[in-house]
Amino acid sequence: MVIKSVEEVEVLRKSSLLVSKTLAEIAKHIKPGVSGLELDRIAEDFLKDHGASPSFKGYNGFPNALCISVNDEVVHGIPNDKAFQEGDVVSVDCGAYMNGFHGDQAFSFALAGATQEVIKLLRVTRKSLELGVEKATSSNRVGDIGCAVQNFCERQHGYGVVRELVGHGLGSSIHEEPEIPNFGRKGYGRRLLNGLVIAIEPMINLGSRRVRLADDGWTIKTADGKPSAHFEHDVAVGLKADILTTFDFVDEAIAKNKNVIEVPSWDGEEK
Ligand code: MG
Ligand code: MG
Repeated sequence: MVIKSVEEVEVLRKSSLLVSKTLAEIAKHIKPGVSGLELDRIAEDFLKDHGASPSFKGYNGFPNALCISVNDEVVHGIPNDKAFQEGDVVSVDCGAYMNGFHGDQAFSFALAGATQEVIKLLRVTRKSLELGVEKATSSNRVGDIGCAVQNFCERQHGYGVVRELVGHGLGSSIHEEPEIPNFGRKGYGRRLLNGLVIAIEPMINLGSRRVRLADDGWTIKTADGKPSAHFEHDVAVGLKADILTTFDFVDEAIAKNKNVIEVPSWDGEEK
C-alpha cells in the first residue's frame, strides 16, 4: 500500500473536493425525465472545465465519466438514454483525476415519490458510511471499518451487505491496496497506517446481499431485484479520520431541488 505525505494528501484533497462539487452539479439537474447520459455529459464537462479528467472513462474500457446505477442496480451501471422515473433510486459514482491524484465519491439520490422503505435504506447506508469512516484511524485495522458497517446494516437493520465489491486505497491509481470490505471482524485485517488514503463505500441491499453481473458485462444488480444504495467518501488515515470528500454541496443542492428527497444520515427516526 502507498502511504501519502502530508503534501500529497492536500493535492489529493483537491481531486476529492472536485468530485464532491461534481456530484452537487448532478444534484441540481437530476429529476424524473432526465437520463443518465445527460448527467454524464454534465459531469464530464464540469470536470474538464475544472482541469480534471474523469477517472472512470476508459478504465478497463468503461465508456463514461459516471457510473449510474438505478434501483436494483448496485454499482457500475453504464449511463443510458432512458429517462429516470418518479420514485427511482439513482446511485451516482464519480471519479476525478487531477494533479496526479484521483478522487472518488458516490451518492444515492431518492427521486420524489420514493417509498419510506427506500428512503430509510439510503439513510441507514449513509449512516453506516459515517460509522465506517470513524474507524479509519491509525490505531485500527481494516476489519474495524468493515465490522462497523456490517453490524449496523445487517444486525441492526436486516439489510444485505454486498461482499463481492469493496472499498479501496486511493492515490495516483483509482484502485490501490488495501481492499476495504464492508464486512469484517473487529481488530482483524491489515493495519491502517498514517497517511494511507482509502475510499470507504458501503453497498447495501434492501433484501438479500446476493448480486449478479448484468448482460452488459459491467452493471452489478441485486439477485432478488430489490433496490440497493451506495455512499462513498475518501478518507486520509490519521489519529482522526480526515474526510477529503464532503456531502455538504450535494445536500445544499438537494434542499433546492423539489424533485429529490433529502436523505440525511439515519438518526433512528423517519422524517
Ligand atoms: Mg466510487
Ligand atoms: Mg471507489
